[in-house]
Amino acid sequence: MTTTQYDTIIIGAGHNGLVAAAYLAKQGKKVLVLERRSIVGGSVVTESFAEGPRRGEDDFSVDSINTGGTLRPDIIKDLKLASHGLSVDSAPQPFITLLADGSPLTLDAESIKRISEKDAARFPEFVRFMDKAAQIMDVTYATIMPRLPMNFGIREGYGLLEWGLELRLAGRKDMLNFIRALPMTAQELVEEYFESEIVKAAICAVAIHGSTMGPMGAGTGYTLIHNWMNRGGLAHKNVGKAGEITSALANAVKAFGGEIRTEAEVASILVENQIANGVVLANGEEISADRILSSADPKHTLLKLVGAQDLPPEFVWHTQSIKMRGSVAKMHLHTNRSHGIPEGTVVLAPSIKYLEKAYDATKYGEISEKPYLEVTTSGNVVSIHFQFAPYALRNSDWKVESGKVAELAIKTLEEYFPALHASRITHHIITPQDMESTYGLTEGDLNHGQLMLDQFLFMRPIPGWSNHKTPIDNLYLCGSGVHGGGGISGAAGRNVVRALK
Ligand SMILES: Cc1cc2nc3c(=O)[nH]c(=O)nc-3n(C[C@H](O)[C@H](O)[C@H](O)COP(=O)(O)OP(=O)(O)OC[C@H]3O[C@@H](n4cnc5c(N)ncnc54)[C@H](O)[C@@H]3O)c2cc1C
Repeated sequence: MTTTQYDTIIIGAGHNGLVAAAYLAKQGKKVLVLERRSIVGGSVVTESFAEGPRRGEDDFSVDSINTGGTLRPDIIKDLKLASHGLSVDSAPQPFITLLADGSPLTLDAESIKRISEKDAARFPEFVRFMDKAAQIMDVTYATIMPRLPMNFGIREGYGLLEWGLELRLAGRKDMLNFIRALPMTAQELVEEYFESEIVKAAICAVAIHGSTMGPMGAGTGYTLIHNWMNRGGLAHKNVGKAGEITSALANAVKAFGGEIRTEAEVASILVENQIANGVVLANGEEISADRILSSADPKHTLLKLVGAQDLPPEFVWHTQSIKMRGSVAKMHLHTNRSHGIPEGTVVLAPSIKYLEKAYDATKYGEISEKPYLEVTTSGNVVSIHFQFAPYALRNSDWKVESGKVAELAIKTLEEYFPALHASRITHHIITPQDMESTYGLTEGDLNHGQLMLDQFLFMRPIPGWSNHKTPIDNLYLCGSGVHGGGGISGAAGRNVVRALK
């Protein structure tokens, strides 16, 4: 056992782990962050790949997992992240869908007039409702949920009261429409506003981004609001700058006196008489602390790092039942820049039926033959988000399929952007299995657990344990798998600090 006694050990240096660490270090706590990878950032990271025969020339750097993004503004302010290297550009970015003839259509009221005057007239009202719904969601995520159906104390009751007040202030009509939208399908929601298929499908694509669901699935109204909130609209912001967020957070942790160790994989959490008091690293080193916060996903933390033997049987069953269903592959193409793809967030989503069929494949453990693609460009790199590519393939494995998926993604995109072919230098693919083995995402699940209505509010990560606590005293959860996550707002990492005893 190392002699240094820490107040808090935080497992994982993704953005949530770093947010929690920075707040605690700022309070003067002795904090140590342990990260299994050689770099910090988790899914919010800009990294360099060296591919192809001409190493050096073929190197390229990119937001490898999540594209761009922003933290909650209050976190940026509290942790003085601007002074630690974070530059946030909140200017709106174009969100572009591709028409059947390959021409781009930007989703804004003016451009939509090209295909439907009626849809163009309805667009501002839709944006107004979605902005309001996102604001209500943001307030909801900032509130620590009580451990329903258990009784809850004054502190949690007070939080709920504040939440109720905020909802009331949102206005009765918008609040009711927000509640009504959550269980709806994204298709139903967009059909209340628009008539043209291409507009409806493009918005539905954002609803299913990162989820293993089709736009005809109940609850994709919720995921549309969630993704809208995280992006601040339909398009990604700050593309190419994801790594800046987590490097600024790491700088803040250190500036406040916290420590970060990379290549420090936690193999287990030490538990004595149901109380966590340290960790054992993969190299056998033991480090003690008064409390442990884990930003790794709940399944990994509870079933692997703690182990079923130290947990109540019903809790173990619930944890085993958390739905983790990663079905995203990511491709990065290094090009000479003459790819012809416009800047912004570009989606290939010709119709709602197309998206639903792309999703259908996952039900049978298959890769979509006609995938939904979301494309962003940054400098000379084109990044493709590919859905659906299920983690658990029924009749094949990812060693065989990774090349085929890369080829399919590139071929599909080249049909719309023929110049891409000659522009390509090399590419790098990240399969759902790489997301697990390299990025620590169990079953390749982007959000540490699917965003579904039965894994939402006081049911995230599992019913009865939504306030960051676990049956092990002094062990808390603070990653995207708890209420407030996923996405990159930092809400889960900040909320946990408020939930500590
Ligand atoms: C391909 C992809 C696309 C996405 N797109 C979007 C999007 O468009 N919009 C959006 O809002 N969100 C998106 N997300 C989701 C979002 O990026 C995540 O929800 C969020 O970044 C998770 O942050 P986190 O800090 O909770 O966890 P993570 O970033 O997963 O960090 C957890 C850290 O813990 C480390 N770790 C795990 N186990 C151990 C251990 N035993 N010991 C030490 N360290 C450990 C991991 O290496 C990792 O660094 C996307 C995610 C992916 C993968």
